[in-house]
Amino acid sequence: MSLREQSNPKLRVRGATKVYPTASGDLVAIDNCNLDIEAGQIVSIVGPSGCGKTTLLWSMSGLHSLSAGEVLIDGKPITGPSSEIGMVFQDANLLPWRNLDANIHFPFEIKHQKPDRDWIARLTHRVGLEGFGERFPRELSGGMQQRAALVRALSFKPSVLLMDEPFGALDAFTREEMNHLVEEIYLDTRTTIVLITHSIDEAIFLSDRVIVMSTRPGRVAKEYAVPFARPRSFEIMATKEVFDLTNAIKLDIVGEQKSKASTATRKLPQAAH
Ligand code: ADP
Ligand code: MG
Repeated sequence: MSLREQSNPKLRVRGATKVYPTASGDLVAIDNCNLDIEAGQIVSIVGPSGCGKTTLLWSMSGLHSLSAGEVLIDGKPITGPSSEIGMVFQDANLLPWRNLDANIHFPFEIKHQKPDRDWIARLTHRVGLEGFGERFPRELSGGMQQRAALVRALSFKPSVLLMDEPFGALDAFTREEMNHLVEEIYLDTRTTIVLITHSIDEAIFLSDRVIVMSTRPGRVAKEYAVPFARPRSFEIMATKEVFDLTNAIKLDIVGEQKSKASTATRKLPQAAH
């Protein structure tokens, strides 16, 4: 038996296909996607805009169902949202009329569950939001709102954290801070993380593996191992190995976009002369 067959992945995506019915016909967003993610790994998914990254992540979260195939967590099919899985989106999605504490406690109210206040206090301290519990979202910077979203996502102690371009709306400096924060939390908790990002630097800084998706319909086009030790210092990130890996991934994505553009051009009707 090969090592791969012996492994027991935390998350397993098998033949995942999602078709959206639209006014102009069926749209195949992802087609026969296969991906195994081991417990305690950080895996980034990159790829051209519209290739189905969000669709794939939503399938992993149980937020929507697949047209074919399945996603398994610890060997069991995901059929709906679960507190095993935390999510962070590009927008923090905080309720504007609730203060920070009340926002973090909101999911517990909905589920009629008692929050673990010690754990939430630890998380709040960890992300540097201690003392801000009474503040309203409008009183917090974008970075602080995303920190709160991170606390909310981790408050249920999920074993998997799914993030969809979580820092895409932040300035470069704040984004780098957030990357370090995620690395710190990861080193503390070893939570399995799947991250969608447009930033190759972010993907390489955080991940054990970077998955490049093809243009729509999305499937896994290529995968890169990121073998650098953690924490990933500035010195590590400035090495030629990181530089070369960054360029290889960028070239792959550009290649995907070009192949899409050339397919589109071939489909254009011949111009009349
Ligand atoms: P990405 O996150 O890679 O940008 P998405 O998963 O958001 O890609 O979308 C993949 C494709 O599916 C896109 O062409 C998008 O327009 C389409 N799509 C996404 N959600 C829906 C939906 N609810 N209904 C119809 N089409 C959708
Ligand atoms: Mg998306």
